[in-house]
Amino acid sequence: MENKSIIAGNWKMNKTPDECKILSEKIIDSLRDIEGVQVIFSPPFTGLNEFETMSPFYKAAQNCHHEKSGAFTGEISIDMIKNCGASHVIVGHSERRIIFKEDNSSINNKILAVTKNGLTPIFCIGETLEDRNNGLAEKVIHNQIIEGLNGIDSLDKLIVAYEPVWAIGTGIAASNSDVKEIHEFIRNVLKNIDKKHYTPILYGGSVKPDNSMELFNVPGVDGFLIGGASLNPESFVSIAKIMEKNRSS
Ligand code: PEP
Repeated sequence: MENKSIIAGNWKMNKTPDECKILSEKIIDSLRDIEGVQVIFSPPFTGLNEFETMSPFYKAAQNCHHEKSGAFTGEISIDMIKNCGASHVIVGHSERRIIFKEDNSSINNKILAVTKNGLTPIFCIGETLEDRNNGLAEKVIHNQIIEGLNGIDSLDKLIVAYEPVWAIGTGIAASNSDVKEIHEFIRNVLKNIDKKHYTPILYGGSVKPDNSMELFNVPGVDGFLIGGASLNPESFVSIAKIMEKNRSS
């Protein structure tokens, strides 16, 4: 995995295909010369084929089905995603876990299928407010990692995104100390699975231009997964530039 910071924009169920093209072009134009930062766009499936990317820009699907093909109405296979030029797939986003009832086992199937097909999963994990209030944040995250990554050969091609559910779309980001503590915890769990490879760990949850510098400077934060602010090109570009300026290496 390249030694770069990563900014990924999750556009969720927003933007028509035409709008995806316009948004990606605006961001690419403004970040054309960016150094040391990988930029990943995650449009809805219908937008994936609407624009081309070249390093340091990449495309991610927001979900996939783990089977190659077949009678799975409404689902999208990894080959289809690959054919649209995507290199990454977001897996296990809390909206998929909570609204669409995905569990660690179905997420594990997707992670294995994505890696087997040579794409990189952006594996989302994180506790709910109830978990946190009950002192269960680390236990829940530990289970999500162990069960979600069960059977994976190496962590060479993986990105983890720590996204506390209570921070997503609420305007209330996790505190620097909470982010530091959980990123350290995740790093240790990952080291126990694979000592050889360094897996980037992103933070996600109400990242905005205003809080991005301090969150990016938290030890253990390799970048961001961004929802709301990724739909606004000025905000997204400004966060990417703050990351470029504040990179330690
Ligand atoms: C997300 O949905 O992954 C996310 C981080 O959203 P937001 O930035 O809007 O909190």
